[in-house]
Amino acid sequence: MERHLEDRDRVGVADAVLLEDYTNEHAFVDNLEKRFRGNIIYTYIGPVLVSVNPYRDINIYGLTYVAIYENKNFFEVPPHVFALTDTAYRSLKEENREQCILISGESGSGKTEASKKVLHYIAAVTEHRGAVEKVKDKLLYSNPLLEAFGNAKTNRNDNSSRFGKYMDIQFDFRGLPVGGNILNYLLEKSRVINQSPGERNFHIFYQLLAGGSGELLDDLHLKRNLGSYYYLSHGEKSNVDNLDDKRAFDDIIRALKTLEFSEKEQRQIWEIVSSVLHLGNIGFMEHEGIAQLSKRDSVEITSKLLGADEELLTNAFTHRTITAHGDVVVTPLNRELAIYARDALAKAIYDRLFTWLVKRLNQSLQPEDHRKHIAMGILDIYGFEIFEKNSFEQLCINFCNEKLQQLFIELTLKSEQEEYLKEGIEWSKIDYFDNQVICDLIEEKHKGIIPLMDEECLRPGDTTDITLLEKMNKNFKMHKHYINHQKADSKLQKLMGRDEFRLIHYAGDVTYNINGFLEKNNDLLFRDLKDAMSKASNHIVNAIFPSKEQESMKRPETAITQFKSSLNNLIEILMDKEPSYIRCIKPNDIKQAGVFDETLVNHQVKYLGLMENLRVRRAGFAYRRVFEKFLQRYKSLCKQTWPHWRGNPKDGVQVLVNALGYSREEYRLGKTKIFIRFPKTLFQTEDAFQAK
Ligand code: ADP
Ligand code: MG
Repeated sequence: MERHLEDRDRVGVADAVLLEDYTNEHAFVDNLEKRFRGNIIYTYIGPVLVSVNPYRDINIYGLTYVAIYENKNFFEVPPHVFALTDTAYRSLKEENREQCILISGESGSGKTEASKKVLHYIAAVTEHRGAVEKVKDKLLYSNPLLEAFGNAKTNRNDNSSRFGKYMDIQFDFRGLPVGGNILNYLLEKSRVINQSPGERNFHIFYQLLAGGSGELLDDLHLKRNLGSYYYLSHGEKSNVDNLDDKRAFDDIIRALKTLEFSEKEQRQIWEIVSSVLHLGNIGFMEHEGIAQLSKRDSVEITSKLLGADEELLTNAFTHRTITAHGDVVVTPLNRELAIYARDALAKAIYDRLFTWLVKRLNQSLQPEDHRKHIAMGILDIYGFEIFEKNSFEQLCINFCNEKLQQLFIELTLKSEQEEYLKEGIEWSKIDYFDNQVICDLIEEKHKGIIPLMDEECLRPGDTTDITLLEKMNKNFKMHKHYINHQKADSKLQKLMGRDEFRLIHYAGDVTYNINGFLEKNNDLLFRDLKDAMSKASNHIVNAIFPSKEQESMKRPETAITQFKSSLNNLIEILMDKEPSYIRCIKPNDIKQAGVFDETLVNHQVKYLGLMENLRVRRAGFAYRRVFEKFLQRYKSLCKQTWPHWRGNPKDGVQVLVNALGYSREEYRLGKTKIFIRFPKTLFQTEDAFQAK
C-alpha cells in the first residue's frame, strides 16, 4: 500500500492534494509533466482522476491490469481509470447506489477513449454468461456505430465526437449489465454541408463510399470518387492515416447486425446517407431573381432514394409557402435562398437521422426483464471551448460546462460534508466561487441571455443580431460578468469588436461574436420541405419528419431553448447519482507522443477548473486514511505500536501520532479514519518511515 508515496522526486505525487502549495498552478502542471515523462498519465485530485493523453498505446489496459484493480481500494493502487470505475462499480453493486462518471476535457484530450475504457472494464469484470455476453456486445458495438455517424476528423482530433453523449449502463441486482440507454446532445450539423480545410465530413460518408459493395453503391447511384460530391469537396479529400474507412464499414455492418437492425432498416439508412450527398449536388441558376434547378438528375435521385414526390420536392426548393392571418402566400425563392433551403434540408435530414439512430439503438439496448435496474451513467461531453472566434455553438457548450461545474460544486461539497458528519468531525465552511450568477445571466427566466435571444427570434419586425446585442448591452449594463465594447477598459476595447460581447465564465473570459446567433437559434427549415419529407415513403424519413409537426401551429422551440431543457433534464438525472470525475488533458496540439506543451496544459488546467477542484478538496484535509492502514504502514515509528498494537486501531493511531509529535492543528481522528491537514505532516512521517 501507499506505493505512490514513494519516489516522489522522480514521478511526482500521485495525488495533487499532497502538493505543498495547492494554490500554485505551476507546481500542479509541473507534477503532471514529471509523471507524463515517467510514462504515468494518471494523477488524482482526491477522488478526481486527471488523465493526460499519451497519444500512443501504452500497455496498461489489458487483463493483467484489470486484475490489479479489481476489488482494490481506490487509494491503495496507482491512479487509473480502472480504479475509478472499480470503485464506482462496487458502490453500485454493494451499496445499491446509482453512479455517474463525468468526463470532461477539450477536443482530443481523451474523453471518448476514457469512456470506452470504463465500458471495457465493466465488461471484463462482469460474469461471462450467455445473456450477459449479448448485452455486453450490444453495449460495446453501440460505440463504433455512433462514432461513424457522429464523429469526424478535425484538426484537433482524427476521431472527434461532434455530439455530446450520456450513456446509462443498466445493471440487475447481481451487478450484471442487462441493458443501456443513450442520450445525445447537439450534433454539429453544420459539418454536413461544410468543413474547414484539413477536416472531414462525418466518417460514415467516407466509410460508405469506401466499403459499400459495388451493387449497393450502384443502387444508391454513388461513385466511389469523393470529388463527385460537393458536400465532401471543402475539406480533406484523401483518406486519413490510421483510419481505414473500408474496414470501418465492415465493422458498422457488424454493429448494425449485432444491434438487430433489420435489412430493410439498414437499406433505408444508406438511402438517407446517400441522399444527403446527392442533395449537395443540386445546383440552381437564377432567372430574374427567381431560382431554377440547373440539373434535374440530382433531384431525381434524391427523390427516389427518400421516396419523396419529385415535383413536390422541386417546388419546395424554389418556393416558400407562408400562412399569414389565414392567407396562404407562395413566393418564389432567389438562388441564395434556394441554396439555403437545400443546405437546411441536408442538415435537418442528417441531424434527425442521428437522433433516430440513437432512439433505435435504445430499443435494442432495452433490458428484457422489467425488474428494477440500477444505472451507471457515463457522460462524454464537450469541454469548455475558447477559440479565436466564438459563436452560438461555444455559448451553448460553455453554458453546459457552467451547469456541470455547478453540479460538481454541489455534489463535492455534499459528499465532503457527509463524510465529515459520518466521521464525527466538525465541518468548517469551504470558501468557493459559486457560479450560479453566471448560470443566471445566461438562463434566468425573462431576464437572461437565452430568453432575450428567443424574444428577438420570435418578435416580428426587423430583428437582427445587432438588435439582440443592443438589447443585451442595455440589460446587462451593470452585470459583473458581462462586458461589451463600451464597458471594456481601453486595453480590451482594442481587442473587442462592436459586434461582440464577453462573458466572465468560471473558467475564464470568452468573447463571443453575435453574428449568426439569431439564424442559428431559429434553425429554420421551410415548411414546404418538411411537408415533402413527411410524405416520403422511406419509413425512417417520414418517422423523423412527422406530419404532426406540420399540423401544429405552434412555433417549434428555438435551438438554445431545446438545448437548455435537455441540459436541465441531464442535470436532474446526474443529481441523484454518486459522481466520479475524469478530467482529460491534451499535452500538445500536434497529436504527438512524448510532447508536453506547458502553456497549452496551463490553459486546460484553468478551463477545466482544476485549481478550483484542488482548492475545494484541500479546504479541509489533504489526506485521510482508515486507522488500520495508517497504523499498519507507520507502526514501526513508535515503540508502543511496534511490532503489534494490541488495542483497537483508533487508540493505536492516537498513540502513534502522539509519539510522532503531531500537533492538534495537524490532524483529527474521526470514527474510522485519520484526517491529516497538511501534506508536510504526512511526508515527514513517510520520510521517517523510508529512512528506517
Ligand atoms: P476526445 O474524445 O476528448 O476528443 P479522444 O478520446 O477521441 O478525444 O482521443 C483522441 C485520440 O487520442 C485517440 O484517437 C487516441 O489516438 C488518443 N488517445 C486518447 N486517450 C488515449 C489513451 N488513454 N491511450 C492512448 N491513446 C489515447
Ligand atoms: Mg470524443
